[in-house]
Amino acid sequence: YIMIPITDKIKFIEGKNQGRYIFSNSLYIDDDLKAIIDTGTGKSPLRKLKKNYVGNDEILIINSNVHEDHICGNYIFKNSKIALHRIEVPILENIDRLAELYGIDDPKYKEMNEQFFAIFNLRNYKADIKIEDNHIFDLGEIKLQTIHAPGHCAGHCMFWESNNKILFLADIDLSSFGPWYGDISSSVTDFINSINKAIKLNPDIAISSHKGVYKEEIREKLKIFLDKIYDREEKILNFLDKKHTLEEIVNKAFIYGKFPEPEEMFAIAERIMVKLHINRLLDAKKIEENPKSSFFAI
Ligand SMILES: [Zn+2]
Repeated sequence: YIMIPITDKIKFIEGKNQGRYIFSNSLYIDDDLKAIIDTGTGKSPLRKLKKNYVGNDEILIINSNVHEDHICGNYIFKNSKIALHRIEVPILENIDRLAELYGIDDPKYKEMNEQFFAIFNLRNYKADIKIEDNHIFDLGEIKLQTIHAPGHCAGHCMFWESNNKILFLADIDLSSFGPWYGDISSSVTDFINSINKAIKLNPDIAISSHKGVYKEEIREKLKIFLDKIYDREEKILNFLDKKHTLEEIVNKAFIYGKFPEPEEMFAIAERIMVKLHINRLLDAKKIEENPKSSFFAI
C-alpha cells in the first residue's frame, strides 16, 4: 500500500485503484491521539495501517461525509470513536437510509439497491462525536479544524491544518468529472460556496478523496473544478432555446456525458443534478416552466 508522509505526523494513504470511486483516499495523523480521515481505501491498506501504526490504541475516525466510499472501512478499527457532521448522523446510524439520499428507496429499485450496496460491506455505526462547522480536533501537536462544506451532500466537511496550511478537500475532489451533487441533500449553490471557501483558505497542500495530494496551482485547479458547474448550467440553458421536459434534458446526459453501469442508477443521479440546475435557472428567471405541459424554456 502507498503511504506518503506529508509532515512527520500527517500521512497520506492512497486508496486502491488510486482512490477512484468505489475507493477513496485517507489521511492518517500519528499524534498523541491517532486519527484517520475516512476509511474507504479498501481493506488491505487499513489492515496494514492497523498492524504497523495503530495496534490496539484508540483511533479517532473522522468521516468527511456519510457516503459509502468514505465510511465502509470504519469496522476495521475496533477501538475507535467516530466523528461525523451531525446532519448525517441519522444516516450513519441507519445505513439503509443511504438509499433515500440517492433517490433509490422506492421498492421498485430494490434489486439495484441491494446489488449496489452489497459491494461495500455496509453496517450501522454509532457516531460518538457529532461535529459542526469549526469543530476543532485536538490530537496533540496537530489541531484539525472542521470546515463544513455542504453541496456534495448536506454534511460534507473539509479539514484544515493551519500550521502547515494543509486542506483535506474530501469530495471537492478536483476530478475531471467535476463536482458531483446527485444526492437529494446536495446543493449546487452550496457547492459553489464551499469551493470558494477552499480557494479562500489558499492551502499549500490539498488532499482530494479521489485524486491524491496537490502541492501546486491548487487555487487554479479549484477554479477549473468550479467552472464545470457553470459549464453544465450553460449547456442546459442553451438546450432550452427550444422547450424540453425534464426527462428530455436528463436523457441528454449533459453532466455524465454517458451513463456508466448501472445506467438506470446514474440516470437517477443525473436527474437530481439537472433538477438542481433547473431550479437555479428558474430562480434566476432565466427559464420558465409551463405548468400544464411540464416543459421548460427560456
Ligand atoms: Zn467520495
